[in-house]
Amino acid sequence: MSLGQFRLDGKVALITGGNRGIGLAVAEIFGEAGAKSVLTARRDNPEADALLKGKGYDYDFVSADATDPATPERLVRHTLEKYGRIDILVNNAGVASHGETPDFDDERLELILSTNVAQVFRFSRAALPAMRRQGEGVILNVGSMSGFATNIPQHQVAYNGSKAAVHMMTKSLASEVAAENIRVNAVAPGYIDTEMSRGGFTNPEWDPVWRNATPMGRYGSAEEVANCVLFLCSPAASYVTGSVLLIDGGYTTR
Ligand code: NDP
Repeated sequence: MSLGQFRLDGKVALITGGNRGIGLAVAEIFGEAGAKSVLTARRDNPEADALLKGKGYDYDFVSADATDPATPERLVRHTLEKYGRIDILVNNAGVASHGETPDFDDERLELILSTNVAQVFRFSRAALPAMRRQGEGVILNVGSMSGFATNIPQHQVAYNGSKAAVHMMTKSLASEVAAENIRVNAVAPGYIDTEMSRGGFTNPEWDPVWRNATPMGRYGSAEEVANCVLFLCSPAASYVTGSVLLIDGGYTTR
């Protein structure tokens, strides 16, 4: 037994949506834990760059649109060329959108499904051959508590369904590749203070509702999610696969 099992020394990670929010917090703690990371998102973020560089972490940022079906193969190839292997894939990139179902147009529906569901499948499919060759690997998907329970505001039928799909893809793939020493897990965050949700926290109508609906009475931080991601991706979680870990301040206990 050793605390070293919580570290990622020598591991190589590919993190989608790594330029801000939860993805950036994961990149930060992975860097501290000794991993090298390829981060991807559509836009570069100079502040994130300065933060990670300032801490001396070994990482590479590649600008890419995850909804382009060619992106996952390209990013996995880049990771292998840059660092020689891929130990961890963190499928974190995602978008949220709400609106009553009769008004929710196809464009928004397709954006939710391609970003939150199809790219998770495609990145996983692209990473698996290298993980198989290596004889080990970890895939970590970022789902949501809203894949378990309706959240506030309501009218997030497509988003909630997309995250439930992520949870079920996690379990299905975990069972498919478990015998090959490849683990697949997910985290299901509740209300986390990031750009995605910040509009709600500052909204005088939603803010008290969100707090009251969360037994812990506060929002979570990206760092609190990243801590759990680190655990699930580390050797310390070597017998954990097919799990969806709720990080929601107790929201879904109600
Ligand atoms: P942010 O909006 O801060 O981050 C979303 C990330 O995804 C950004 O890095 C963004 O970069 C990237 N992204 C979005 N679309 C694309 C795309 N087409 N191609 C490439 N990258 C893309 O939100 P969070 O950090 O909160 O979200 C991270 C994950 O956590 C998401 O999957 C979200 O659904 C999930 N989640 C968040 C919760 C919360 O309360 N915040 C709760 C539950 C789950 P860019 O826009 O530059 O491309």
